[in-house]
Amino acid sequence: MNMDLIEVRALRAARTRDDLRVNEHVRPLAGGTWLYSEPQPGLEELVDLMTLGWTPVDAEATGGLRIAATCTIAQLLAHPADPAWGPGVAPLFRRAAESLVASWKIWNAATVGGNVCMALPAGAMTSLTSALDGEALIWQADGGERRLPITEFVTGVRTTALSPGEVLRRIDLPAHALRARVGFRRSALAPLGRSGAIVIARRDVAGSFVATVTAATTRPHRVWFAAPPTAAELREAIEASVAAGDGWYDDAHGAPDWRRARTLAMAEELRLELTAEEAR
Ligand SMILES: Cc1cc2nc3c(=O)[nH]c(=O)nc-3n(C[C@H](O)[C@H](O)[C@H](O)COP(=O)(O)OP(=O)(O)OC[C@H]3O[C@@H](n4cnc5c(N)ncnc54)[C@H](O)[C@@H]3O)c2cc1C
Repeated sequence: MNMDLIEVRALRAARTRDDLRVNEHVRPLAGGTWLYSEPQPGLEELVDLMTLGWTPVDAEATGGLRIAATCTIAQLLAHPADPAWGPGVAPLFRRAAESLVASWKIWNAATVGGNVCMALPAGAMTSLTSALDGEALIWQADGGERRLPITEFVTGVRTTALSPGEVLRRIDLPAHALRARVGFRRSALAPLGRSGAIVIARRDVAGSFVATVTAATTRPHRVWFAAPPTAAELREAIEASVAAGDGWYDDAHGAPDWRRARTLAMAEELRLELTAEEAR
């Protein structure tokens, strides 16, 4: 998988925040599974984030999770489930990880932060963290920091809200999302193919219903309802959100009409699944 990056003249191991100093030509290196997989024109220097020694996953006293950007997918999966997590949450972590193409080959190196910063529609960690109301903590070039929901962090295909010089420090998952009942659906054109559409839905303890669409669209789309929606309300909300963005994504992994049909069908399955008890 590794390839020589012939324009890269230096690899710096970051030990402290002051060592970061990234820009257009000096980029962060996390697991390197993408950086070393194709030519990187204009890249002159890499700054290794893995040497910062960030704790991969921290459970907060409030029940939330703090996931370091450098946490590998394997480390995330190894983190023990909390008994307070809602039905479907622990399996969701694994199913999201398994959505990566050839996932097992890259789990030990690929990081959660690297996956989200890549901003591919099929970014499995983007699907997971956006569906669980993940919030990015961003380190700014001037030493400050800012926070942004993952649904706003990924802005399009291979684009994020990171400004030059900024680094993703970690992603926080709030307790309310981890305590919810969740459901996951994924469609791909081939059994081991790249995700064409992913829908993750949540029924929060407070009664609200949330559905997040990824892979079928250029960035995550989240629709929220104070109480479970009807089939028509859910469909209309998803259609309106996607229409207000870039529409349904089109590439070799699925045509827009197929992605739309799969997304709407899976969202309806999840609506029925997560509201089944009330219907009885
Ligand atoms: C076999 C294979 C299958 C793959 N399948 C998928 C797939 O299905 N879906 C998918 O989305 N990707 C896939 N990828 C692409 C990629 O490997 C993953 O997205 C992976 O999670 C990237 O993480 P990494 O830690 O290796 O990132 P790196 O390769 O180290 O970095 C990726 C990019 O993110 C930037 N970056 C990394 N961390 C930070 C940070 N903390 N702050 C700011 N910028 C940062 C880097 O500068 C670089 O531009 C696949 C790759 C391979 C080799």
